[in-house]
Amino acid sequence: MIKNVFCANEISMLGMGNMRLPTREDGKIDFDKAAEIIDRLYESGVNYYDTAYVYHGGESEVFVGAALKKYPRESFHIATKYHCLANPDFKAVFEEQLKRLDMDYIDYYLIHAIGDNTVDTYLTNGCVEFFREQKKLGKIRHLGFSFHASLETMRKVLDFGGWDFAQIQLNYLDYLLHDAKAQYEMLTEAGLPIIVMEPVRGGRLAKLTDETDAQLKAAHPDWSIPSWAFRFLMRLENVKLILSGMSTVEQADDNIKTFSEAEPLGDEDTELLFKVCNEFKKQISAPCTACRYCTDGCPMEIDIPVMMEIYNKFKLNGRFAAKAIEKHEHSAKDCICCGACTEHCPQNIDIPSIMEELRTAAES
Ligand code: SF4
Ligand code: SF4
Repeated sequence: MIKNVFCANEISMLGMGNMRLPTREDGKIDFDKAAEIIDRLYESGVNYYDTAYVYHGGESEVFVGAALKKYPRESFHIATKYHCLANPDFKAVFEEQLKRLDMDYIDYYLIHAIGDNTVDTYLTNGCVEFFREQKKLGKIRHLGFSFHASLETMRKVLDFGGWDFAQIQLNYLDYLLHDAKAQYEMLTEAGLPIIVMEPVRGGRLAKLTDETDAQLKAAHPDWSIPSWAFRFLMRLENVKLILSGMSTVEQADDNIKTFSEAEPLGDEDTELLFKVCNEFKKQISAPCTACRYCTDGCPMEIDIPVMMEIYNKFKLNGRFAAKAIEKHEHSAKDCICCGACTEHCPQNIDIPSIMEELRTAAES
């Protein structure tokens, strides 16, 4: 297992996320199955376990504390988080977390999921000052934040200061096509070590298209497709730990194998990966140019280019993104598949099929 010296501690390159643990029929965490995953990882050298106040309705923290109880406290690192929308009373939350975990300190404590809509609350409600105080008292070892917002918000958070690390969504697709590269660079310039979440974009990068997968396989027949995502991250010097949510022992074994064998991606392979990523995006997207030639003839008054934009987000981000159609008065749900739009589309997009796919995804 690759180790990183991070904040004067040695942490494994792979960390376990505890948000999607195996559950029983009643929805509660299946302790034995979930503990088996932790045991397998711990025995393989994984020493970072990430949870949060809100995961599994609060059960995740209790589980993680109990599952790690048999191991020496100094031999692993716990990360957990405070979310201002889940419970604004940060003092009570923190006390409850220590009780749930049955621990007297937390190694890595995070302000959870800073967004453009929550940043001001986090920076003005006194929570950061309180957590800094806990750090002085030794109840928190490192203080950081997890982040899902704009670069302007990141600047505001960094200017506020006093952080030891940051956790961001980082993978080759977000690095190449969205602003993950800019986030990485801003954090690196600020001297903050980075913990990565969503390394395979919620599983989206575990399989691309048949054609693009074939190009990667041709270059390295022995490498799995998800391992390209991990190898890419390993080439970024300021990535200190990569989190992976694991729900089965098989997933844990796969990750252990990848991290035991994987070397960082070289320049030539990175070039290939970026080329493949651009092709992948092109292949799964509708090539809509928003020309609006199709809209006048739609008897259901659907804003077709807006639906195309939602469709492209859905293809990259998963079916949750398709639910955005519900915000529109006339949407893919109203399409009667009359085909009046298709003859006007210079891009030859099969609009009725896309509407159908969007509707199905939004309803699933
Ligand atoms: S196929 Fe659907 S989107 Fe196209 S014109 Fe007919 S109702 Fe409108
Ligand atoms: S005509 Fe085709 S390219 Fe133009 S807005 Fe409609 S779907 Fe998009």
